[in-house]
Amino acid sequence: MVTKNDICHEHTNYLASKFNVVMRKLILTLLVASVAFYGNAQNAVSVKTDITQLQDGMLAITVAPGHHGMDTLIYAMPKIVPGTYSIYDFGNMLRQVKAYDLHGDTLAVVRLDENRWMIPKGNKLSHLSYLAAPTFTDPAGKKVFEPAGTRFELDRTFLFNSFAMVGYFEGLKDENYAFEVVRPADFYGASALERKALNDTTDLFTAQGYFDFHDSPIMYARPDTASFMVGETEVQVAIYSPGGSLDAAFVSEKLEPIMFGAKEYLGGALPVPKYVVLISLMQGMGNSGGFGALEHFYSTVFVMPEMGRDYLSKTIQDVVAHEFFHIVTPLNIHSEHIHDYDFNNPQMSRHLWLYEGVTEYTSHHMQVKQGLIDPDEFLSTIRSKISQASGFNDTLPFTELSLGALDVHKNQYMNVYMKGALIGMCLDLLLCDLSDGAYGLPELMMRLSERYGPDRHFWDEELFDVIAEMTFPEVREFFRRYVEGPEPLPLEEYLLKAGVQLQRNLQIRELTLGGFLPGKNKERNRMEIVTSIGINSFGRELGVQKGDMLVSINAIDLSPENFSDGVELFKQRYKEGDNVTLVVERENEKGQLKTHKLKAKAQGVDRTVSLRIRYMPEPDERQRLVRKRWINY
Ligand SMILES: [Zn+2]
Repeated sequence: MVTKNDICHEHTNYLASKFNVVMRKLILTLLVASVAFYGNAQNAVSVKTDITQLQDGMLAITVAPGHHGMDTLIYAMPKIVPGTYSIYDFGNMLRQVKAYDLHGDTLAVVRLDENRWMIPKGNKLSHLSYLAAPTFTDPAGKKVFEPAGTRFELDRTFLFNSFAMVGYFEGLKDENYAFEVVRPADFYGASALERKALNDTTDLFTAQGYFDFHDSPIMYARPDTASFMVGETEVQVAIYSPGGSLDAAFVSEKLEPIMFGAKEYLGGALPVPKYVVLISLMQGMGNSGGFGALEHFYSTVFVMPEMGRDYLSKTIQDVVAHEFFHIVTPLNIHSEHIHDYDFNNPQMSRHLWLYEGVTEYTSHHMQVKQGLIDPDEFLSTIRSKISQASGFNDTLPFTELSLGALDVHKNQYMNVYMKGALIGMCLDLLLCDLSDGAYGLPELMMRLSERYGPDRHFWDEELFDVIAEMTFPEVREFFRRYVEGPEPLPLEEYLLKAGVQLQRNLQIRELTLGGFLPGKNKERNRMEIVTSIGINSFGRELGVQKGDMLVSINAIDLSPENFSDGVELFKQRYKEGDNVTLVVERENEKGQLKTHKLKAKAQGVDRTVSLRIRYMPEPDERQRLVRKRWINY
């Protein structure tokens, strides 16, 4: 998964108030769900629901176990699901769990713990019936990361992460699942699951076992879908955007280059026949305060607040790239803990550096390697990973962080996206170097997927040895010191292998613009000096004033769109003592805008740069070789 917490939380109350309105309306119209439909499927767990009605905002669900030879049955909801690394206790989302026999009489149900119910006379059970509350708006359950949750909005949209509303009978986890959904005639349920329409208003989804069922989310709404082919793989996009900021055609256009880039990066073919991207937008922030996506074998669920199209589409590109590369790991390269996933007693792996770190690194690395972003943008992403990682404990061995991610090291978890990604980068650089530019991390990942794949796991304790055996002994040393051990990553040394210079707390002398902080004047579309505070001796010699609108400096454009690039260019092109002409627009006493040419000799100032990372303009031959293999630059 990937979670983004870096935006403002100003709309938090919106959903809550909307929910109240929906609730009131429901109570007034006395909508009562009918649960008069239940199990008829043979040798499959049969789940049924009807999304044309809600009870107090909750969805009525029936679950029939089908044929089984057990006296007592235990119905379990997951405590946690793969990819989330948080305990959610989805049992808390179920209310009024009742058991019925074939005659419609109730059977005793004993709640064993937060997530499990026992039906002592399980051999008599026809079906269970209960209400499922939506994680998006239910105040009682844990704050569930929205991409792992459920959203029920009558006549608008339903998002099913089935593990948050349907469980499994212990001992029957491998039974097939049949999921019948009654829906409004004009609704479409997008999903990677096998499906057929039973009639105009009923869909039947089928899955082979609970793992497949839990792994395939469904999103219902009035259809806004698009699809495109990437080689042999069909990519489908389905969107629910209540504020209309996105539509499926627009998102497909943005995702196409990402998916084609991924195909090339993975050696020419995508590893799945189809991939479904479900995007559920919210008006305001959700319950959990974060947004992002969760990965699945054949799909991903992406939940985000409605925002500007450009910001949304860039975020969707990065996030979908991340989720898609989860097909490589952990879906195709994973340890025994994920292979036999225990939804109620999960064992953590020590390899989050791989599952989340390498995946996050790959999502950006693919984009630079395939020419979708330029090398400077890639370095600036690396720079922000380094600076964000510095907020976490750098001497906590990463394998320990990983093993304790659910409990003791919960507060360090987010570092899997920062330092985890940097571990991926260092391993990539090390491989490019040791192999004399013959291969890097993508090639290693492909060899690992061939060796393991979805049906074969590695042993958690052995992976480092296996990778070293497949590559170089130095790689074992790298894992020992920087992933299993407490030593911080030798970023400077490793980046230098590719002719990238990383410097910290660097004292530099550079040209000044005048010491002022300009702000954007939207009306005039100019950068404006909003306060005279900070104006230095160069600014005073020029004679800048509060209210001046910046036009150009030595003919370099200083409009808002070009401002930071323009300032950089000015600093690079001129030196102290050069003639400088700053053109500004200034209002006169009559309120008319007049152009002024302010002149002075360029001056320098001393500044400390906490972190500087840049390509060396003249790398040596060795560095050129490594850099070429690394990012094709
Ligand atoms: Zn992830």
